[in-house]
Parts: sequence; C-alpha cells; structure tokens
Amino acid sequence: MKEYGVVAVMTIFAFLLQYTGIYYIIKKYVRRRRGHSARILLYHKVNNSSRYLTVSIEKFDRQISYLKKNCRVVSLGELTDYFAVKEIPEDIVVITFDDGYKDNFENALPILRKYDLPACFFVTSDFIGTDKSFRWDDDLDLECPKMTWDDLRKIKELGYDIGAHTVNHSDLGEISLSSARFEIRSSKEKITKEINEEVKFFSYPFGRRVNVSQPIIEEIRDAGYICCCSAYGGANSVESTIYDLKRQGINDYWTFFVFRKYLEGYFDFLHIFR
Ligand SMILES: [Zn+2]
Repeated sequence: MKEYGVVAVMTIFAFLLQYTGIYYIIKKYVRRRRGHSARILLYHKVNNSSRYLTVSIEKFDRQISYLKKNCRVVSLGELTDYFAVKEIPEDIVVITFDDGYKDNFENALPILRKYDLPACFFVTSDFIGTDKSFRWDDDLDLECPKMTWDDLRKIKELGYDIGAHTVNHSDLGEISLSSARFEIRSSKEKITKEINEEVKFFSYPFGRRVNVSQPIIEEIRDAGYICCCSAYGGANSVESTIYDLKRQGINDYWTFFVFRKYLEGYFDFLHIFR
C-alpha cells in the first residue's frame, strides 16, 4: 500500500540523514538562516475502526503525551503572535483537526484535556449536525458521523479554537472566485453565529499547493481571518506567510519513530518537492 511505502521511505531517509551526519549540518544551516521552525500537525479522525485519514486512539494518546513532554504546544492565535514579533521560540507545535468528525469530540478531546494542550478544530459548516458524508468516506463505504453544533459550543467553552473549512468542502483551486468567496465567508458567518464567537482561523480543503493562490489568499484575508493553514507538509519559519501555514498530516501508518523525526525537523524540506 502507498502509505506503507511513504513511511518506509521516510524511515530510510531519516536514518540516512542521522547516520551520515547530514541532518546536523542542515539543521545548523536552516537555524542560522531562518531561526526556529513551528510545526503544525493535521489530524482528521481519531478512532480504532478505520485507518483512512485516521490515527488510533492509543497512537494519538502516545503522540500527545510526547508533545506534552518534549515540545511547546501553543494555539494558532499564539503562533500568529510570534509571527507578529518575527521570533519563533524553539520546539513550537500547534495541533489542528480538519473536517469536523464526531470522534474529534469523543476521542481526541478527552486526551487533549488529559494533557491540557490547546488545539484548533476546522469544521465544514454544512456537514455539522447532519448525516452528510464526505466523498472519500463514501468511496470506502465508511460511516463517519460529524460533530453537532452543541459539540462545538462545548469545545469552545473549554477554551479550544473552532476554525472554518468552507461550507461544502469545495476545492478552492477549482471553483470560481465568487463561489470561493461564498465558501470562505458563509462558513465564517454560520460558525460565528452558532458558537457565538468570531471565527478567526481558516484551513484550505485539500490544502495542496494548487489550492493556495494569491486571489484566494486575498479573499480569506478580506473576510477577516487572521491566518490560514494548508496541508502539503513542511514547517514554518518567520519568513512564512500566515495565509499559507504549512501543516503535516498525520495518519495511522506513521510509526512513532517517524513522528519524532518529523518533530525534530528531518522532513522539513521534503514539501519543496510536492
Ligand atoms: Zn478537509
């Protein structure tokens, strides 16, 4: 399977960088030129019943426990504050979730609370509180319930951030600018009204490079969002734009070794080739 292949390549790559000493040379060079990096993790589902776009509950607990002990986990708002002063401290990590799956509320939230770490949940507004299904789940015959507005209000009350991920999970790189404007603005309005707090964060559905164009970035900024996350991997330096914050998707095929190596910066420049 493709996922096993990717993890195998990442493992070999990390071993090579470590044992040849190249990692230490690159790290020194990058740090001198760009300062510390901030890493943003992207999760979708946390459960023990599917593997696609999923991390098992046990793996998630182990990863969050590791972050608690070894990194400085901050909210997206705090990260934008670091960008404002152009200085990112060492080992900064942000935890995010996309799409609005119910297991975020049932499985991930208790673990985040156990370790007392912040996170942002990006939700697709027209799927919340409905039995609508995403195309990729339909293709695999997966039934994956979504959160309700009550779930989101509880998450907000607990101090977590809720972000927008469009109305219909549309590919902003494919649709017209006026349709993209609707997706960007209406999701913000709907979520803001439901949770009674202004939504400030946005994440691109699909999040590939082709989804991140300058006109779309301007639409997102003009709609009043303070930052926006993509999803093609990599890490962020103070030179990054806060309307294309790079995130690394985590899935169940990742070993703990690969997870740690990502946090240590072994794969920071791989996104250049995507
Ligand atoms: Zn999504």
